[in-house]
Amino acid sequence: MAGEPQDDCLFCKIVGGHVPATIVRETETTVAFRDINPQAPTHVLVIPKAHYPDAAALAAAAPGIAADLLRETQAVADEDKLESYRIVFNKGPGAGQTVWHAHAHVLGGRGLEWPPG
Ligand code: 5GP
Ligand code: ZN
Repeated sequence: MAGEPQDDCLFCKIVGGHVPATIVRETETTVAFRDINPQAPTHVLVIPKAHYPDAAALAAAAPGIAADLLRETQAVADEDKLESYRIVFNKGPGAGQTVWHAHAHVLGGRGLEWPPG
């Protein structure tokens, strides 16, 4: 069923506490933790606790949780005292999505070029 934990999903394992992560924030519906391969001084992933394969599926099935997730990106930025930051959702393999559990990347703490590469 949509939103149910998936046994083979890395981020569901982090939500369940079965894989360790450096958690920076947690709410009833979301978890934020530091990326294992950071691309900037701040590189935090914000995920819904429920499993949806990508951000579009999350927004379609659970818009309230999608809003919670977006709100949490600002809370993460506040935590690391970032005035400027970038939120990235990679959707699909061609855009670099490698984990099929919805997640926002929050990147900051260095200059971020625009447009990105
Ligand atoms: P994607 O490429 O799907 O947009 O982002 C997945 C992110 O998850 C990558 O930035 C990758 O470094 C991160 N990641 C992969 N495995 C782990 C892990 O075991 N722990 C943490 N904290 N991050 C991970
Ligand atoms: Zn999952």
